[in-house]
Amino acid sequence: MKSLWDDAEAARFGGPLGPRVYTSRLLGREPSLVLHGGGNTSVKLAERDLFGEEEKLLYVKGSGWDLATIEPEGFAPVVLERARRLASLPALSDAQMVSELAAAVRRSGAPAPSVETLLHAILPYAYVDHTHADAILSLSNSPEGERRIRELYGERVVVVPYVMAGFDLATYCAREFPRQVTAHTEGMVLLSHGIFTFGATARESYERMIALVSLAEEYLAAHRAWQIALPEPPPATVAPLDIADLRKSISDCAGAPMLLCLNDAPRYRAFATHPEAARLTLGGPATPDHVIRTKPWPALGRDVVAYAERYRAYYARHAPHAREPKTMLDPAPRVVLDPALGLVAAGRSAREAIITRELYEHTVEVVLRAEALGGWRPLAEQHLFDIEYWELEQAKLRKAGTPPMFAGEVALVTGAASGIGRACVEAFLRRGAAVVALDRDPTVETCAQRTEVLARTCDVTERAALEAGVTEAIRAFGGIDMLVLNAGIFPASEELAHASDAAWEQAFRVNAQANLALLRILHPFLCRAPRGGRVVVIGSRNVPAPGFGAAVYSASKAALTQIARVAALEWAKDGIRVNVLHPDAVYDTGLWTPQLLEARARAYGLSVEAYKRRNLLGVEVCARDVAELAAELCGPLFAKTTGAQIPVDGGSDRVV
Ligand code: ZN
Repeated sequence: MKSLWDDAEAARFGGPLGPRVYTSRLLGREPSLVLHGGGNTSVKLAERDLFGEEEKLLYVKGSGWDLATIEPEGFAPVVLERARRLASLPALSDAQMVSELAAAVRRSGAPAPSVETLLHAILPYAYVDHTHADAILSLSNSPEGERRIRELYGERVVVVPYVMAGFDLATYCAREFPRQVTAHTEGMVLLSHGIFTFGATARESYERMIALVSLAEEYLAAHRAWQIALPEPPPATVAPLDIADLRKSISDCAGAPMLLCLNDAPRYRAFATHPEAARLTLGGPATPDHVIRTKPWPALGRDVVAYAERYRAYYARHAPHAREPKTMLDPAPRVVLDPALGLVAAGRSAREAIITRELYEHTVEVVLRAEALGGWRPLAEQHLFDIEYWELEQAKLRKAGTPPMFAGEVALVTGAASGIGRACVEAFLRRGAAVVALDRDPTVETCAQRTEVLARTCDVTERAALEAGVTEAIRAFGGIDMLVLNAGIFPASEELAHASDAAWEQAFRVNAQANLALLRILHPFLCRAPRGGRVVVIGSRNVPAPGFGAAVYSASKAALTQIARVAALEWAKDGIRVNVLHPDAVYDTGLWTPQLLEARARAYGLSVEAYKRRNLLGVEVCARDVAELAAELCGPLFAKTTGAQIPVDGGSDRVV
């Protein structure tokens, strides 16, 4: 591991917290040191308060901040003396500790100080860095891990046996550290947990972290325990429906829809078929920090029911001995290892699933390296239970509000680059869904660049492209729950007597046939939607009230509407709801330019403003109005509605 320190870069971080922010970010850049919040840093500074009195403050990483992107306000200023006195108490519950720490923060609006704050407070150094470095974990979770670490580091580190994070660990270290510390001490290794380094400057503490972790890496390499080769697994073909089936059973078991995220690289398929896979995986993750996201162990194979039974038995074994009653978490796995699917992670959002996947990718390496040193030694099951059912975690569960309407669900939107389609992408994202956005216009790929969106250029009239888009969506999110059929064309106005065959064929190919194909492709996935599939068809006011010169358009949208009505009939038994929206006069779409609007308004002898409001209510109908209703149609408000046709047109005297 290389030091990333750069004098010129460091100089750009000014102010008393500058160096602290800079090296925290350097640590955050290295995923084998800190991954997704796993690690924290601090600095002790003397400051004068409003009355001119000097006070020592411990600026410690606040929860919710990532080291890689932390800012000065990401550190919570805790009164140092108060934190140290807390660590000297004979006993304190972790909930009380959190409350006391919150009350010891000197700035209103600061984030909650890390639960490892007391550890930072008791270490008598200005700068303290803490990571859950992979290499340290491989070493400490191997046979005679403690001996290896003591031999490797000698007096450079203080070694502390495994104690659960929180007050008990802090008081243990407060007693143990002064006993072991010498003039050569640069850090402290917490067995089966991670490593602390410290120093008089940010750079010293950071460089010590790099040096100590590099030593562990070199040790592993010297013992042929660094790059672990696995045999090439047999080729695997994964049917998208297998993934959707797994998602359905995990969601059913969790009692809520879950998203899946896959890594089927040969390495993970090989790991799933490792002859010792059961022993290597059933013993828990590499560090307690991962238990909450990955669960105490992954599922080996896709039998989710068997996993749930095993999980319930684990709960029943440990819950009765807990100090206070525990609420059982859902028994669904968060990680599945399967010979064909590789590593599959589950989460209530795309972000959550990806984080879990990345944590377990690191776990695989840590486990294999420790195994190469002579045998992976995981944490005892009792410890895993204590972390998973920690009072602080249970309190978080009690506090968690209602999740967003579509948490854990996926919506596919066609024609997603502009107008109603684009507004639909936003409407579904706002309600917590992951969204698959398809459009033949390539700008779709740049309109929403975030983890929850898979955007692809795709012409819906090309069957192979559609199928490829759907397969990619299933691999990214695990399934598709909702479908908005929005892509469509509006041929130029032609009176019936002059309507061309070509216009007719094209309108039917896009507006009717392509949508029919997509419905067919998605039917098996909608059947597997944990809450039942939902389809919203964007029809047109032209269906109930066709317009002059719009024979081709009206007929193609009427065909689509009939298809939707039959789908509502035929698919009700599969739990799929199909409803149609009939918008009219939506002018903020790709079809309308200001010039065209003006021309149309003039043709009616109206101003553009008046032209836009030519309806009973005299209101302007926007893409967003249609999109919001499309999203709500998929929600609980319309749970008992299927086969409906709803106008979104401000009221039309030809329809009411
Ligand atoms: Zn830690």
